[in-house]
Amino acid sequence: NAKPAPPTRHDQDRLIGGLLSPAFDEQSCRSRYASPHYRRPSPFRPSTYLVERLRRYEARHRRCGPNGPLFKEAVQHLRSGRNAARSECQYVVWTPFNGVGNRMLSLGSTFLYALLTNRVLLVHAPQEFDGLFCEPFPGSSWTIPVDFPITDFAGSFTMWSPTSYKNMRQAGSVSGDHRNVSADRLPAYVFLDLIQSFTDAAFCEADQLVLAKFNWMVIKSDVYFAAMFFLMPAYERELRRLFPEKEAAFHHLARYLFHPSNDVWGIVRRYYEAYLARADERVGLQVRVFPEMPVPFDNMYGQIVRCSEQEGLLPKVVRKDSDGEANHSSPAAVAPESSRTKLTSVLVTSLFSDYYERIQGVYYANPTETGEYVEVHQPSHEGEQRTEARAHNQRALAEMYLLSFCDRIVTSAVSTFGYIAHGLAGVRPWVLLRPPSPETHADPACVQSKTVEPCLQAPPRQICGAAEGTDIGALVPYARHCEDEHKGLKLF
Ligand code: GDP
Repeated sequence: NAKPAPPTRHDQDRLIGGLLSPAFDEQSCRSRYASPHYRRPSPFRPSTYLVERLRRYEARHRRCGPNGPLFKEAVQHLRSGRNAARSECQYVVWTPFNGVGNRMLSLGSTFLYALLTNRVLLVHAPQEFDGLFCEPFPGSSWTIPVDFPITDFAGSFTMWSPTSYKNMRQAGSVSGDHRNVSADRLPAYVFLDLIQSFTDAAFCEADQLVLAKFNWMVIKSDVYFAAMFFLMPAYERELRRLFPEKEAAFHHLARYLFHPSNDVWGIVRRYYEAYLARADERVGLQVRVFPEMPVPFDNMYGQIVRCSEQEGLLPKVVRKDSDGEANHSSPAAVAPESSRTKLTSVLVTSLFSDYYERIQGVYYANPTETGEYVEVHQPSHEGEQRTEARAHNQRALAEMYLLSFCDRIVTSAVSTFGYIAHGLAGVRPWVLLRPPSPETHADPACVQSKTVEPCLQAPPRQICGAAEGTDIGALVPYARHCEDEHKGLKLF
């Protein structure tokens, strides 16, 4: 009986240190095993415990997931309107809200929640979300089937829903003490409304014990609520084992869960090979101008230049004297001709093309100080956010991926689009800070983040067990306020 060969180094890289299961068919999802090769090796390794827990999760998902007898039984209970007292499988159904970046943060958070509470993650995928990602769990599906009893997600899950946990508690229909809650008297499902400022609802241990009695749960969120679990003593030990480096929690979750579909990967791969592959260094620049903070072009462009000069990010160009002649004392004039000239690619992503045009124009008209070459590219300029359009979302996802292939990444403050890019990359970004108002300047122009983690922009105002007014950024040594959003929370 020959023993199976030990995993080779190639396998280790291909499977990201065991993070990915080898059980998938490569052709059905080309990005899964290919995308790690488009990046520098990650500085973070998944823990053996995380790998073990993922394999256990996959086994549970196969057992409890759509099409099996256990799933059929659980769906029957859901249809009956009553929660079953005991159930072998418990579920959390995620429903999308807001842009692709917001969706990925909340979906990644929901998956961590499923891991921590032994639930099976299912996804409500409306047409604009369908076709973005590959199936993440081998031998099963995460998409709710077409005959699923809940259909009107938009209508059923609002802040007024009687099935919302917060509303049930307020109406007194469910007690906050699990000892007074009998599972078979509960409704068939509970809705956790974790949208922006409503993150208050569920992060007390007492609430978690009540929630654990519901076999079905629906989560709607647009934030990285995963960060909250790191403040809860009940999950502390488990999270320490799963993520000994807390800074890499989302990095690992995202690399495990989010694999662009073959359509999206086609966009990514073609663009990368055509425009970025030859570069010695790739710098990603994500310029997000929010409609509610309409920073004028000149201010934003000026901020990018100040950031670049302050942090040495984009290659400097030779300043011309007043006659338009290049200053020949620059190192460009003395660079040895024989050595291969360095090529830097700048990848700009933005809804608008004007930042790209200005930067491209600068490198077209001027040599760099070092003599290196700079090419500037922007894949698309969509003009406006169109979350309801599938092809638009596919391009957004492709661009987050392309940014994540860059060696250095500059992002815009409070943009979840940027969070995804540097989270996937495992790179600490430079963040272009928000000015106090559209007409004023941010000072400093940017800072380098101390972590690759995304920011939870709207943590609960009040933490269970902590005195009123307690600073949420000072509760545990590994969480602090975010550079780009002072009231937010980030893991380090
Ligand atoms: P956030 O609003 O910056 O936090 O990021 P989201 O991804 O949640 O929402 C912004 C949405 O606007 C994206 O999902 C895209 O639909 C669109 N969008 C914003 N910036 C870009 C960009 O640079 N490229 C593309 N293709 N779409 C963008």
